[in-house]
Amino acid sequence: MFRKILVANRGEIAMRIIRACREFGIATAAIYAESDATAIYVKKANEAYLVGPGPVQGYLDIEQIVRLAKRIQADAIHPGYGFLSENAQFAEECSKAGITFIGPSPEALALLGDKVKARELAQKVGVPVVPGTSGSVSSLDEALAFCQRVGYPVIVKASAGGGGRGLRVVRTDAELREAMEAGSREALAAFGDGNLFLEKYIERPHHIEFQLLADQHGYIIHLGERDCSIQRRHQKLIEIAPSLILTPRLRAEMGEAAITLARAANFYNAGTVEFLLDPDGRYYFIEMNPRIQVEHTVTEQITAVDILQSQIWIAAGRPLVFGQHEIALQGYAIQCRINAEDPRNGFRPSSGKITAYLSPGGIGVRIDGAVYKDYTVPPYYDALLAKLTVHGRTWDETVRRTHRSLEEFVLRGVKTTIPFMMKIMEEPDFKAGRFDTAYLDRHPSLYDYEEVMQPEDLVVALSAAIAAYEGL
Ligand code: ADP
Ligand code: ADP
Ligand code: MG
Repeated sequence: MFRKILVANRGEIAMRIIRACREFGIATAAIYAESDATAIYVKKANEAYLVGPGPVQGYLDIEQIVRLAKRIQADAIHPGYGFLSENAQFAEECSKAGITFIGPSPEALALLGDKVKARELAQKVGVPVVPGTSGSVSSLDEALAFCQRVGYPVIVKASAGGGGRGLRVVRTDAELREAMEAGSREALAAFGDGNLFLEKYIERPHHIEFQLLADQHGYIIHLGERDCSIQRRHQKLIEIAPSLILTPRLRAEMGEAAITLARAANFYNAGTVEFLLDPDGRYYFIEMNPRIQVEHTVTEQITAVDILQSQIWIAAGRPLVFGQHEIALQGYAIQCRINAEDPRNGFRPSSGKITAYLSPGGIGVRIDGAVYKDYTVPPYYDALLAKLTVHGRTWDETVRRTHRSLEEFVLRGVKTTIPFMMKIMEEPDFKAGRFDTAYLDRHPSLYDYEEVMQPEDLVVALSAAIAAYEGL
């Protein structure tokens, strides 16, 4: 097993990696930008190294990170999600330096990082894809011809896109023209690759994704699916496992399709195959994420498999120790992304100092957090402060428990998604399992809420007053 792992990430996922390593008895080395000097993961790692310059560059500097890993004798690097996690060149440089990249091979990363190539592979092995252009489109005429053939609406995507960025739904020729021009420019700036392709826009689908574990000996299993349909601007907000609508038969079929695709890509380590499931029960592959995902926690809760430790185990060359038939899905899990954002203001990011923090607890409640009282949320990174993952025996129990946990959650000083999430847990369609990717747009009343004072706020205020008094 590895002796020391360099964590090439920040925030809650850095904490998640550190926790997995601790249980394995592996030492951890964190990297941090100056703007992250007070972050909790920096304190929790065994070692921590400043990388720069600026708030972001150090987390993306392949040469600097690999050089550091060699100097401190780390034998592996975990890239987390975002940043360098899907960068084939990074995986390659690690391997050249004799350091294990905890993820798939550079070849698999290069293939799956390109949505056009991934689509082609899916088609080749008989996994259904959304009707789309064959390859990227180089001219407006080509795009117009496709739209004429399949009819609007159509979604314009960047081949190298991710994180909900680079997606544009178009309903007219004029919108298409605009999306092609702006999209290509933006994709080039954001991903270093301006290639675009088009897909038929599926109305009101569920986003269903399968979690895979694949070892380096050709053995691949799935850990069931997640329903990530609760999204804003094509970005996930709430994730659920298992899906409320998959039959065991469809689960087996889609799981098999996911494994087929991963096998064809020579994929190993942990990855997720994403599908859309339309209202008629047809499923379509959209992409594969060859890395740990934000929402892996819901799968961990219902399967009791530690996906992070599985990643480390697989990277060390060990064979998977459980088979497909040993994976049982127990109850339901819901993850709420507690973001520093104001839902009533277009989910605008909110930064600042956290003046009170008390996380919920009790049966079935898991917190993957990155913040504490008096921590100042820097404005440079994604807005995820903590993930609340709740596990219950039934769907109803899980929804009620999630509501109770959100009610307990005290996080003051920045705007958060907590009150908005509570509204969702109270909403009849959600409670009845009636939702798809258009859910938030169709429920504008979710945005009507007051940020109420909780009794816990009073406890926090009182203890602050007592502390101040005692300090006199
Ligand atoms: P990203 O790489 O940004 O995650 P995806 O291709 O996975 O992009 O799509 C993100 C989300 O956008 C999906 O979960 C879904 O809500 C929506 N989406 C993507 N493709 C389509 C499509 N063809 N039809 C309808 N919705 C889509
Ligand atoms: P998940 O699929 O795990 O839910 P998200 O799509 O929300 O993950 O993305 C997780 C993180 O990775 C976010 O910070 C997102 O901005 C970032 N990310 C994902 N794909 C890319 C990409 N191709 N380029 C840049 N950032 C990305
Ligand atoms: Mg996706």
